[in-house]
Amino acid sequence: MNTLLSPDEITQLVPLAQAAPDAMAAMRERMQASGQWQPHQLAGRRWNMACISLEITQRCNLDCTLCYLSDSAEAVRDFPMEEIFRRIDLIHAHYGSNTDVQISGGEPTLRKPAELVAIVRRLTQLGMRSSLFTNGIKATRALLTELAQAGLTDVAFHVDSTQQRAGYTSETDLNALRHEYIERARGLPISVFFNTTVHAGNWADVPQLAAFFVAHADVVRMCSFQLQADTGRGVLGTRADAITHDAIWQRIQQGAGTALRTNVLQAGHHDCNRSAVTLVVNGRVHDAFADAAFIRRFMRETADARFARGTPWRAMRSLVAAAVAQPALALATLRWLAALAWQTRADLLAARGKVHKLTFFTHNFMDACSLERERLDACIFMAMTHQGPLSMCAYNARRDHFLLQPLATSSGLWQPLGRRASQGAGNVHSFPIKLLKGRARVARQQAQSPTTTTATTEPEFTS
Ligand code: SF4
Repeated sequence: MNTLLSPDEITQLVPLAQAAPDAMAAMRERMQASGQWQPHQLAGRRWNMACISLEITQRCNLDCTLCYLSDSAEAVRDFPMEEIFRRIDLIHAHYGSNTDVQISGGEPTLRKPAELVAIVRRLTQLGMRSSLFTNGIKATRALLTELAQAGLTDVAFHVDSTQQRAGYTSETDLNALRHEYIERARGLPISVFFNTTVHAGNWADVPQLAAFFVAHADVVRMCSFQLQADTGRGVLGTRADAITHDAIWQRIQQGAGTALRTNVLQAGHHDCNRSAVTLVVNGRVHDAFADAAFIRRFMRETADARFARGTPWRAMRSLVAAAVAQPALALATLRWLAALAWQTRADLLAARGKVHKLTFFTHNFMDACSLERERLDACIFMAMTHQGPLSMCAYNARRDHFLLQPLATSSGLWQPLGRRASQGAGNVHSFPIKLLKGRARVARQQAQSPTTTTATTEPEFTS
């Protein structure tokens, strides 16, 4: 039984201020302490952190019914680039170059394209992999091309019915938009992911969504399903009892048309993350990890190798390079490949050898008021705050505490709400509607609890 944090304990959750001298050993210790250190655990073996979210804006051009942003989000100004670069350096200091960084928000493409390119370039220069997490509205082909040239590794499109996009009334309708995004990214040297928030309104659609991603596995590398969580400014509340981490996998398998082994390789806590890796051949799904014993051996014996993403060839080259460095493993790999080819032979022949890898992934975020200690301790998905990294679930529960603090910059103190919002007045007609919405939310909060948003009363630094 996992332990729930009390409201007081939640207010005491703080980021990791100092980088651990050995981040891999620190992750291993966390997995051991939380009972998640299995022979097939990736955390603490292959990487010291699965990924970290770098939020570069709190603004968004959509208003999702399950948005994780805080009520104040739209009122918060974009961080200065200096602060973003400082956070990138902090990420590197904590986790090193073999780190996956999600460039997110809010909607990150609302920042200037030149700023986005500079952020991707900085991450690339430090040897880190970058993913653009976007709703796709402003992620044009030209922008994606430019970002790919700067070193972007992946683009993750978020499309689902929580976004209430005009003209789309169902998940089936949204497949047209997903298709448009797929075509936008086709052929670029980046991996294409899709994120779907799962809630009562699209629960029945999970099989057809899984089938859609299978049908587009020539471009889509990963489809991630995130279960509804009651956190942030979203309005749908807690998930229905029927939506469980076990049940969603039954639906994914229904859509995939075959049984899949999940967590052959475990990433962090079993209740948080599950995945299945498949090969799509001739439109049919084959479980690439069905031989779990071999996959786990391969993972352990190549724990120090770095696997490339971006294009299938890059990924394949790095896998082969890791295997041939060890003759015994190379032989076992050949045997595994031969067995896989034999099992899929009919489809391989029909597809003339064309094979596409598709990973199914589920992420089970926690409600802001129901945080489980064991899962936070084993968390492998961090958000970068100005003070350091913090579990994303913990950050979601305390967003305003971090976002509404003034930041020290080389030019003085930077105020997140700006002068006009700080003064609580301003000419309402001069603000866009979403900013107004956010400012109204902040004003409401201040009225209810004047001490929680002290940042608004600090003197403002004029940039
Ligand atoms: S962010 Fe939350 S759900 Fe995700 S790994 Fe961390 S604790 Fe688990």
